Amino acid sequence: MKTAIVIGAGIGGLAIALRLKKQDYHVIVIEKNDYAGGKLHAIDQDGYRFDLGPSLFTLPHLIDDLLQLFPEHENLFSYRSKQIACHYFWEDGTVFKASTDSQEFVRTAAAIFNENEKTLYSYLQKSKKKYNLTKSLFLEKSLHKASTYLSMDTVKALINTPFLGISNTLDQENRVFKNPKLTQLFNRYATYNGSSPYQTPGIMSMIPHLELGLGTYYPHGGMHSISQSLFEMGEKVGIEFRFRESVTHINHLDNQVTGITTDRATYEADLVVSNMDIYPTYRNLMKDIKAPEKTLQQERSSSALIFYWGIDRVFSELDLHNILFSEDYHTEFEHIFEHKTLSKDPTVYINITSKESQEDAPAGHENWFVMINAPGDYGQDWKQIVQEAKKDIIKKIEKCLGVNISNHIKTEYILTPQGIEANTSSYRGALYGAASNDKFAAFLRHPNFNKQVKNLYHVGGSVHPGGGIPLCLLSVQITADLISKANS
Ligand code: FAD
Repeated sequence: MKTAIVIGAGIGGLAIALRLKKQDYHVIVIEKNDYAGGKLHAIDQDGYRFDLGPSLFTLPHLIDDLLQLFPEHENLFSYRSKQIACHYFWEDGTVFKASTDSQEFVRTAAAIFNENEKTLYSYLQKSKKKYNLTKSLFLEKSLHKASTYLSMDTVKALINTPFLGISNTLDQENRVFKNPKLTQLFNRYATYNGSSPYQTPGIMSMIPHLELGLGTYYPHGGMHSISQSLFEMGEKVGIEFRFRESVTHINHLDNQVTGITTDRATYEADLVVSNMDIYPTYRNLMKDIKAPEKTLQQERSSSALIFYWGIDRVFSELDLHNILFSEDYHTEFEHIFEHKTLSKDPTVYINITSKESQEDAPAGHENWFVMINAPGDYGQDWKQIVQEAKKDIIKKIEKCLGVNISNHIKTEYILTPQGIEANTSSYRGALYGAASNDKFAAFLRHPNFNKQVKNLYHVGGSVHPGGGIPLCLLSVQITADLISKANS
């Protein structure tokens, strides 16, 4: 039996481990932390449960597909769909509950924002069309194999290039709306891959389809149950997990991978898949290989500053996902991407899983995950930034919800970009690997195979096709296909 080593037990590592097990490899996963899940981790504090990383769950079938690889083993993973994608708030008192039913979305948005229903409907249709045209090229195949460019889907996507809006920014694309609040609402989707709407290409207007067309879901037990279910399945099917062990080198001979060395031992392997961020993979584990500098020097995606607050009351006006918008969105992104700091008026995202699972907070309380988009770690004074940001967030909540939330915070845990990097080795604490601010970003992402070392592959949010749970899982599907083809 051939041996495969997976470096890292993030969602990408867990998923590729299962797919390789299905291909009959003896699979060993080496993880530096004492838990599986990477960014998809959770903590309990003072009676509140907090998911530390992702909060939005889309394309759940990608998880089902993995668990169903082994139908002989029971899995209890389940989820429900959300009727409301998000509650949006502005300081002038405007509130919008975005439905995942497109007719309802169009009807309510037209009424609240005084927008033409036709404009809204055609925007959503265009989003769907762009998504369907591009997914097979940009998301489901390797961009680095000639065969990708020979398929009908590719040809179709390229023919429709002007329609895709690659030469516009997302903000320009979203100026079809009369009401700037709607433009802002749709600009927000740039943050789903850690980019700026004022720089990322208009093709990103396909992202709303993912949420509003294909739906958003809540996994029972919270987001952490996603990584837990994959890990538990991994244990059931005999994947070997080694925690608290750091990989220090990827070993190779004559351009062929031979195994890895960790801080404890050296392991031989026929195949190695790195789920680690591509930047430290080259800089720390492959110093003897010429690094693809253009790829590594790509601008990183935004990071985040998150306050996890136990709140001693219930807010009926809030739902699972809530956004309190900045009055000056452009300045907010200018601060993040150009000045590498935070604006005084950030957009505040509040995620409350106790709305879905009451056991996540004591009775009459809520567990708030309060996040603002932030620049990566470039050596800023995070202690000072955290203090200032907390004041600005509290101000924003007061302006939008009319409550001084500081009187209701019973417990607090804070995660900064530095903390995200320390936990997961994500370079600069980026949430999604490289940013998509450049229209060629997709082509500059690292491929899922290594061009210099045979039988070395790469999965996860910092390589093709990009960050976020669904894209990490697609990187795994592409990689598993490449490995299977190489073996056949
Ligand atoms: P990671 O989760 O980073 O896993 C990499 C693993 O490798 C880690 O466990 C790390 O410890 C391990 N490792 C690193 N170096 C070594 C080494 N030398 N030896 C051994 N092990 C090593 N996505 C969404 O889809 N929806 C969201 O709502 C969303 N929100 C987010 C909010 C936050 C705050 C964050 C941080 C991320 C969010 N994301 C979201 C992005 C999503 O979490 C990531 O894209 C995804 O989880 C990345 O998974 P991964 O497997 O690529 O990497």
